Amino acid sequence: MNSLEPNSGAMPEESSERSNFIRDIIIQDIESGKHSGRVQTRFPPEPNGYLHIGHAKAICLDFGLAAEFGGKCNLRFDDTNPSKEETEYVDAIMEDVKWLGFQWDGLFYASDYFEQLYEWAVQLIKAGKAYVCDLTADEIREYRGTLTEPGKESPYRNRPIEESVDLFERMKKGEFPDGSRTLRAKIDMASPNLNFRDPVMYRILHMDHHRTGDQWCIYPMYDYAHGQSDSIEQVTHSICTLEFDNNRPLYNWFIEQLGIFPSQQFEFDRLSITFTLLSKRKLLTLVQEGHVSGWDDPRMPTLTGMRRRGYTPEAIRNFCANIGVSKTNGVTQLSHLEYFLREDLNKHAARVMAVLRPLRVVIDNYPDDVVEEMDAVNNPQDESAGSRKVPFSKVLYIEQEDFREDPPKQFYRLSPGREVRLRYGYLITCTSVVKDADGNIVELHCTYDPETRGGNTPDGRKVKSTIHWVSEAHAVDAEVRLYNNLFTKEDPNEVEEGQDFTSNLNPDSLEVLTGCKAEPFLLDTVPGTRYQFERIGYFCVDRDSTPGKPVFNRTIGLRDTWARIEQRENK
Ligand code: ATP
Ligand code: MG
Repeated sequence: MNSLEPNSGAMPEESSERSNFIRDIIIQDIESGKHSGRVQTRFPPEPNGYLHIGHAKAICLDFGLAAEFGGKCNLRFDDTNPSKEETEYVDAIMEDVKWLGFQWDGLFYASDYFEQLYEWAVQLIKAGKAYVCDLTADEIREYRGTLTEPGKESPYRNRPIEESVDLFERMKKGEFPDGSRTLRAKIDMASPNLNFRDPVMYRILHMDHHRTGDQWCIYPMYDYAHGQSDSIEQVTHSICTLEFDNNRPLYNWFIEQLGIFPSQQFEFDRLSITFTLLSKRKLLTLVQEGHVSGWDDPRMPTLTGMRRRGYTPEAIRNFCANIGVSKTNGVTQLSHLEYFLREDLNKHAARVMAVLRPLRVVIDNYPDDVVEEMDAVNNPQDESAGSRKVPFSKVLYIEQEDFREDPPKQFYRLSPGREVRLRYGYLITCTSVVKDADGNIVELHCTYDPETRGGNTPDGRKVKSTIHWVSEAHAVDAEVRLYNNLFTKEDPNEVEEGQDFTSNLNPDSLEVLTGCKAEPFLLDTVPGTRYQFERIGYFCVDRDSTPGKPVFNRTIGLRDTWARIEQRENK
């Protein structure tokens, strides 16, 4: 075999079996009989954007751990902030979780618990553990103190319990304007953990909610809603990212004060990938400012964008399993994700031939009216994928870059007088070059050796290169979209003074090629189908395809090693 077969590049160093401290905790809990050995997890997205590859890591953990230990995993929408949440996101999140290959047990919304959360809040007020505060948001911040200085108590902290009960009820009834009052937990204004300095539990917000409409005008804050929602669902292991480390004591405090089911929180490292932004807020900015075509732009790290680009759920799951879980944040190389993408596509993608930048080749000694059907293997990695016929005729297209009139040393592809093998076809030799008035090469003339059908050389002579081709008369016109990194910096958040992350956008992240030529097999291909264009890379049929005019997204180039070969050849 020649250099046509992909080799997926270097294997990332980590092995795919990795210990996982959360898994170890679950094993211990099962062994000690905690919660009668029951495992209940949840994945709690806020429906304020589309899921990204970071969420995939959380999903794989939440669902994966539950499945491994015979437990259950809920999908719970953390929809306590009506100003940013929408039904569109709810629907997209469900679709993405399913696409990744997971099915939730219960489907819940934090907003389902608004009534219960309200009753518990009243209970805490009556127990002297919460009070209505009339300070403004700015004043609350001022009073909070700093890491080195204790906070100051609110003048409303010690108002009579009955007064707080009454005011909280009137907050709920809508008697007060937005921001005029809050409900706060009464804990410790001198606590070294700032979250304990009388955290806000409820705020007033006269705004329609995507599910509860105008039923509520007070909304619970994350810290008050999250743990209680876990507890209502009897979640045993509530897994979240490290930045919630400091919220854990408060999570426990509410549960203890209320004496409800003792859910417990465990934190793991947040996924960061080089050249990639993983923040819904910033991804929303890219969409809103038109830097990308939408949440499903194939350059986006969203699951919907990655799906459109051609990522497989298996590749993403394998990646998530391999990166493992730790207690410190780090940065993962994009090439690490790409390794798992290539590995999976190599196994499953059908091989086809397509020419991205066509150069016309006429085989002078080939009969005018003959079309031969050449046997082509669909996937050398998968015998069951079978084979297909590729038409061969007198006029073909090859890739412009596979010809050099004046070849540099080590360029072994076609050049005047040089013989190469056409994949699945014949050996051809270039005899002359046709140029236009400006001196651009527009056509090659070649001869073929009829004894070399299928690429064999009966006399054992060697050719150094095999190139791909498409028969002109049978070619399907295609559009191909080539994607590069969306950002030029490894850390897109690293910016100059006064700039924001959009200043790191890569102006060359998309290149659209029209007039590409594909073998006829691709005429009626279906959006979402993934192929390997031999010698070029992996491609996925885009939803913008129209009958007879497919559009392909480049998922990823073949491999780094091929790029190296090319660099070497071109020297
Ligand atoms: P973003 O900052 O992108 O909006 P988020 O953490 O606010 O992310 P949520 O919808 O609240 O998004 O997240 C749902 C779950 O996914 C949480 O448990 C969160 O910890 C987890 N998650 C979000 N981003 C990542 C990430 N980059 N790596 C791992 N887990 C993540
Ligand atoms: Mg969030």
